[in-house]
Amino acid sequence: MKAALYYKNNKKLIIKDISIEDPKDNEVQVKVMACGICGSDLHLIHGILKPIKDPIIPGHEASGVIEKVGKNVKQFKIGDRVVISAGTSCGKCDFCKNHQENLCEEVGVLGFNRDGAFAQYINIPETNIALLPENIPFEEGAILADAVSTPYHAIKYAGNFQKGQNILIIGCGGLGIHAIKIAKALEANQIYAFDIDEFALENAKKAGANHVYNSKHIKDTIKKIQKEIKFSLILDFTGNYEFIEPLLRLLYSGGKYILVGLSKKELQIKIPALIVFRSLSICGSYGSDSRALPELIQLYQENKLNLKDSISGIYPLEEINECFEKLEKRINNPIRLVIAPNL
Ligand SMILES: [Zn+2]
Ligand SMILES: [Zn+2]
Repeated sequence: MKAALYYKNNKKLIIKDISIEDPKDNEVQVKVMACGICGSDLHLIHGILKPIKDPIIPGHEASGVIEKVGKNVKQFKIGDRVVISAGTSCGKCDFCKNHQENLCEEVGVLGFNRDGAFAQYINIPETNIALLPENIPFEEGAILADAVSTPYHAIKYAGNFQKGQNILIIGCGGLGIHAIKIAKALEANQIYAFDIDEFALENAKKAGANHVYNSKHIKDTIKKIQKEIKFSLILDFTGNYEFIEPLLRLLYSGGKYILVGLSKKELQIKIPALIVFRSLSICGSYGSDSRALPELIQLYQENKLNLKDSISGIYPLEEINECFEKLEKRINNPIRLVIAPNL
């Protein structure tokens, strides 16, 4: 099969013909129809995120059709359309048994902790897939696995979001834009969005944000809007903690500031008293768990989640390096570029 491999210290993936084994007893073999390119794939080729082996096949946002099943597979059969979850976990611990796989001690990501889906086929445990209904195109199903499920988890489970609450989203890239769509699907009252990029703000508006602001003027904007609104939840996808302190002042008492974007920066907060007096929380949210995919598919089926305009282009595996470059340089402001390895 054709696969795109990442070799340590190599800035480009290399397309090779390699063999794939039969799936293990608890695994299925999926013919990959679509796999989205994520910002963390760029972190991989820049050496910021380290994979467990060398070389490795990246790609953690995939959908496809089951081609083979291991002998202990019970829930799926050959020909089933499926989405593959981006997260990997032990499958045995109490967290894994209670739909909290993202809290497992052995939590990892496909394409980092085991071979991913920038390949024509992938073997994956049946516990890591969900059925994809016929009416959901493969490319839209694929991005459910991370671009949509990560913000969904941050809002619904880490944020304990309730219908009618106000939410503020900072950073409207691949994940942030879907946070807006989800907030809308879950019937947020007001959705405010910040980004440094005017095109991203246009997308944010289209996705359903009620108010969008350029973060270049964030301090003035915060001064202005704190007279008119407060939020139950702030989601930070920027990985840039510069504005956390003024933003905290926009939270209701009991509000949550959730960090989803990764950063190496130090978090310095000079207002611990405010956090105590107002019972605020600052917490992180990582990935999602096995509740996300079925619940998102349900929202999609209820026509509450529209992902058509989230797909900025579908490309063959051979064009993967060009696509990484398009994402990196934000050429034509892509939301999600998708690779179709069997195109
Ligand atoms: Zn990702
Ligand atoms: Zn576990």
